[in-house]
Amino acid sequence: MVRRSYAAAILLLILGLGSQVGPLGCAERTSPEGGSSATGSLVVVDTSFLADIVRQVAGDSFDIVSLVPEGVDPHSFEPTPKDAATIAEADAIVATHLGLEPKIVELVQAAAEKGCPVIDVSAGIPGAEQDPHVWLDPVMVLDYYLPNLVKGLSTVKPEAGTTMSSNAESYGHRLRELDEWIEEQVKSVPAARRLLVSNHESLGWFARRYGFAVVGTLLPGQHTEGAPSAERLVALVTTVKQSGAPAVFLETGSDPGLAEQIARETGVAVITDLYTHSLGEAARTYIEMMEWNAKRIVEALS
Ligand SMILES: [Zn+2]
Repeated sequence: MVRRSYAAAILLLILGLGSQVGPLGCAERTSPEGGSSATGSLVVVDTSFLADIVRQVAGDSFDIVSLVPEGVDPHSFEPTPKDAATIAEADAIVATHLGLEPKIVELVQAAAEKGCPVIDVSAGIPGAEQDPHVWLDPVMVLDYYLPNLVKGLSTVKPEAGTTMSSNAESYGHRLRELDEWIEEQVKSVPAARRLLVSNHESLGWFARRYGFAVVGTLLPGQHTEGAPSAERLVALVTTVKQSGAPAVFLETGSDPGLAEQIARETGVAVITDLYTHSLGEAARTYIEMMEWNAKRIVEALS
């Protein structure tokens, strides 16, 4: 709790500072062209799936880099000195939600103190503070992330504003189609089997959008640090048995030993390859990530 309140306080501080800076960004450039960046403007994004979303909106107007590499859990990400250097070069930083990656907060704070604009894509979303996994609902990405990005990035590069608005509109149509597609897939899951058990509380936004119930999690809360206690494991096994949940869903990179143990003790299928926090081999874009997850969930519950 302490850590999350701290993150929230920092976020307020950053947003306060961010609003006072002009459109020129923060990086101390060694050349008028903006150093090694091809477009002259570098946007550092916290996570890989969000970097894809930012690319869809920004088009060729910005160079985009993701701070947390593919396949790495942002909750437990440890930045290197190279990451600090990348952030120091940024003209803007885009964050899913700063409470998500406690280790990045300090770096972002340092950049913000130098006047770097920080765009929080979740700004204005009721409940994002309690559960930051908003991106697992594509309608929220459409309704909040896209307008927040257009607004924030247009402040950094006003001349690209019109292009970015039109990019966001096209991408918005694809997100609408994605939402309709998931809705259609989910219809094949009987209402009584729409039960999700996951490794931490990450599937709430997805569940609400598509009519699932989250009946249990292996780890308490929204973070993934540490292994579940023996008591927690026993409680989860009981929850799975009592609720009749047909499967347990873990994210890519989860401990296979743990997955086997849960499968053995619950007798249900354990899916170990949801892409919820990062892109990866089976999901090269945000849309592919959502399609993959919907397929895996629907297959396991149908
Ligand atoms: Zn998470």
